[in-house]
Amino acid sequence: MSKAYLGIGTNIGDKKANIDKTIDLLDNHPQVKVTKVSSYYETEPVGFTEQDWFQNIAVEVETGLEPLDLLTLCNQIEKDLGRKRIIRWGPRIIDVDILTYENFTSGTEKLTVPHPRMHERAFVMVPLYEIIQDLEIHGRPIKEILDTLEGEEIRKLDN
Ligand code: AMP
Repeated sequence: MSKAYLGIGTNIGDKKANIDKTIDLLDNHPQVKVTKVSSYYETEPVGFTEQDWFQNIAVEVETGLEPLDLLTLCNQIEKDLGRKRIIRWGPRIIDVDILTYENFTSGTEKLTVPHPRMHERAFVMVPLYEIIQDLEIHGRPIKEILDTLEGEEIRKLDN
């Protein structure tokens, strides 16, 4: 079994329900077990700012799936929840990204791990740090990355 961290975000419809459904779909896969779930965070949109705020979380999974098969599952869940790609960085029902997968690295367009923009995004790093404090990303401790972030606004929700 391998340990991977996923980032999940949504800004359309019932955001909490979209996240909860995604966690269920991940955990219902016979080769995936969701072992940690961060708090839910409300976050300011980045890039394309004329859109609703997001909710973001991070999860830890233990999985027997290889990285590309885990990606296929993430993409399938996005489809199942009805995601349509319209605007890059734009509104989305659900976005499921592989942040890290053990010490695996990949630099292809189809799968870049660690996720190429995770270290610049508070909405990824803050929930991730909540569930794992001793992770290194490209050799940099997660706490150090977090301390240098001047990112968008992010508020922890109580639910
Ligand atoms: P996005 O619109 O941000 O969800 O981008 C999805 C696309 O990014 C998919 O076609 C994936 O194949 C690709 N991709 C590359 N690296 C990753 C990753 N680490 N996690 C999820 N999708 C990825």
